[in-house]
Order: sequence, then C-alpha cells, then structure tokens
Amino acid sequence: MRAVTILDRETSCPSCGAPVRFAFAGARAVVCGHCRFVVARTDRGLQAVGRMADLLAIPTPLQVGVDGRWRGNAFVVEGRVQMDRTDAPSAPWQEILLSLPELGQLWWIAYAQGRWYLTKEEPAPPGGLPPVDALRPGMQIDLGPHGLWVVQEVGWRRVVSGEGSLPNVPAPGALTRYADISGPKGRFGTLDYGDGRAPPTLFLGGLVDPRELTLSSGAPLEAPKAQAAAMECPNCGGNLPMLTGQAERVVCQYCGTASDVTGGKLAALGPLPRPPVEPAIALGRQGKLHDEPVICVGFMVRACWVEGERYAWREYLLFVPPSGGAEQTAAVGGAFRWLMEEDGKWQWVKPLEVGDVRDHGQSVELGGAVYRWKQQVTAVTEHVVGEFYWKVEQGEQVEATEFQGAAGIVSRERAPTEVVYSLCTRMRWRDIATGFGLPVGAAPPGGGQSARAVLGVVFIVIILAVIVVAATTMDGCAVGGFFFGGGGGK
Ligand SMILES: [Zn+2]
Ligand SMILES: [Zn+2]
Repeated sequence: MRAVTILDRETSCPSCGAPVRFAFAGARAVVCGHCRFVVARTDRGLQAVGRMADLLAIPTPLQVGVDGRWRGNAFVVEGRVQMDRTDAPSAPWQEILLSLPELGQLWWIAYAQGRWYLTKEEPAPPGGLPPVDALRPGMQIDLGPHGLWVVQEVGWRRVVSGEGSLPNVPAPGALTRYADISGPKGRFGTLDYGDGRAPPTLFLGGLVDPRELTLSSGAPLEAPKAQAAAMECPNCGGNLPMLTGQAERVVCQYCGTASDVTGGKLAALGPLPRPPVEPAIALGRQGKLHDEPVICVGFMVRACWVEGERYAWREYLLFVPPSGGAEQTAAVGGAFRWLMEEDGKWQWVKPLEVGDVRDHGQSVELGGAVYRWKQQVTAVTEHVVGEFYWKVEQGEQVEATEFQGAAGIVSRERAPTEVVYSLCTRMRWRDIATGFGLPVGAAPPGGGQSARAVLGVVFIVIILAVIVVAATTMDGCAVGGFFFGGGGGK
C-alpha cells in the first residue's frame, strides 16, 4: 500500500507530462511548475482543471519549501494562492499554506497592512453558516461554539495565481464570494462561499506575533520588503519617498498625478486637482504624538452636505514605523493613525479592531463603555495627496456615523462592502505643533477663508439647534448632524 501512496503523490502532469508532487496527504491539487495547470486529484483520477497565470511579484519570506517552527511545532511552506477583489483588481494579496506535520494541521498565513494573520479551517456550527446575502458589514453573527463575530467585509474575489500543493481545488479566474469576520482581541476569520455550489467553509484564527515564527535559517519572520525607498513620479519625475512600504496608491505632491504601485513601480492613472489648501503638516514631516513616532504620509480634504450646506474637514494620514509604537507586537510593518481638523479643532483618530466594537445601531460598546449615536453623514473625498494603503479615489463615499461617549467619539465608516471603526479624541494644536516641531502660534491651520466664511452660518445653526433640542425631547438625535468630525480610518 505504501508504494501506491508514494506513486499517487509523485505523478506526472496530465497536461504537459512534467513530474508533479502532492506534498502532503490531504493535498487535492498541485500547480504544475512547468505548464502552470492546476492538477486535481478526483474520483476519476488526475485532471488538469484550469491554468494559473504567472505568479505576481508579491514578495514574501515564506517561499514554497521554506521550513521553520511556530510555537515549537515544525512547519513547511507547501503552497500559496494569490487573489484579488473584483472591486480592486489592482490590489492583489496572497495567502500562504503552512503544513504542520506533527500536528496534522494546515494553516493559512497572510500579511496585510503590517500584520500577519493565521487561519485554519474549522467545522461549521451545527446550524450551518449564514447565507452570504444576509451579511452586512458591521453586523454580528453567532457561530455557535466559535462565539460571536462581527462581519468586517463582504465581497467577491478570484484566484489569480498560485503554486505548490493545496488542500482544495482552486478555479483560476472564477468569481467567488467571501466574508471577512473579526472577533475580540485580534481574532480573525473568513467565510468562504466559493461559487455557491457547495456549502461554505469556515476559517478562523487571528493575528499572530511574528516573533512566534522562526525560519530554519534562524531568521525571524520579517515584513516582506515590498517597495523601494523612493519612486519617481511617472509624470513629473518628482522623487516620491515610499515611507510606509504599504502604499497602494500614490498622489504626487508636486504635480497631482495619481499612480498605482504595481510590481515595485508606479503606473500613472491620471491627474487629480490639487487640494485648495496647503496641509498644516507637510508630507514627510516626522514627529512624536502620544509617545508614538509618526510620519505624515497623506493629506485628504473630505466634505459632507447637510441641508444644502457644505462642510469640509481635513485629514492627515500618519504612519507609525515598525517597532515605533507602544502596541507593535503584532504590527511588524508599522501602524496607521489619523489627525482630523475641522475649523481649527483637532482629533486624534486611532483605528479600532472591528471585533472589539459591539455595534447596536443606535449605540456602540467599546471596552465596556457605551457610545451613543450622535450624527450620520455621507462623507465624500474631495482631494487627496500623498501615499495611501488603499486605492483611494476622488469622489469616494462612505456612510460616516459618530457615536459619542465619555472617552471621545467612536466613528464608524461604512461602505457597501466594508466597515471600519476608529476612536477619536480631542487634541490641541499646541500639542500637535510641538510634536512636529512646528510653530505653535501659526495661523489656524488648514481651515482658511472658506471655513471662516461658513463659521458664522454654523454658529447660527448651532443656536437654532440648541433651541430645537431644548424644545423637543431629551433625545437630540433627530437634530444632530451639523458638525461632523468623522475619523478616516480605512
Ligand atoms: Zn504541466
Ligand atoms: Zn508628479
């Protein structure tokens, strides 16, 4: 019998005849290294079921064949799958298959926005998984023995490329549905609905501290070196420092040309109009806020319309470099923060784990504290410049809701496919200026004349609002919405 097993695992590609090997007992597919066809083990023997595109240049220290240890258990990298989302085809990512032979387990590891995630297939709860059409970003789902989870993202994706041995049979190019879910304390999971013909599968896991994984070379697991330190603007040739290593879209601060970062280069998309105001904190400026070293890497002007009146505010994307902040154990690639300024009032905006927030619609709970619904607007991105970790677009819209609590404001930004929460706390310009080594006594930053012009109107509106609130019930929800100070966590 043993000989048969070995023969079964070492075979030849039905498409091109090259030798292929199913690396572990449960492998159902292997990508032929010669012709790139997916070779599947089926009831009727081996079948070539579609051809993978060439691998995309997404760097990783976890190449197929690399081995090491995770929490004392040996692992070996057996395969990887590269995917993209249908709403962001130029932002592919990859998931890497680790086999832990001593435990008989398979884990998927992925790197995104400075963090490593590990997930493993788990049995669906007794009642099955909820239908994908019922899922909305921000809603809570009960996975029985696996506990309560929050839907973070719902979308369509497809397999673009891959290599090595895989526990399932991917169909290159086929659109499949998925939902990413988030639980407390960095737990993470995915519901894979496939093409809808088979029951969905559940993958659960969480953030992993990269120090728990060591490669046999003795090297620690480091962030993939994805980008050069600087790139040239494809339009004006300006030198654009790549400060985060995670940029997906860059808008040149000199000429306004938007570019995508693909394959280690910038590909121009086209010009964007320049922001009407200069950022109060220059791009590339370094500082220290809340004991974290930060670099200003992006600037946005966003606005909303309330009863025919436009209210604009400005947001600064800050990058905390690797091992810079206080909570860097799981974020080897650094972390992001925001500063938000409206009419000279500043907020420090820190992204939250979706799974740490309990969203009840009219209120949210965070760390045992309750934040109550304050206002909701549609926030539109009007101007952007700098480097961003997502495919930022002019005109991008999200439903932005604020919940007020004692510790500050929980901001929820919701798009049809995704939800993001942030905690916003007031900050004085004096402290920001000191942190960045800027003059404290400078003119109110950012706002400029347009903000001053609406200020008078806003005061009248506030007075009216106060009167209306006083005249109605204790619950002021119905009249809220004049001042929006939404955070921009993405
Ligand atoms: Zn082949
Ligand atoms: Zn340029």
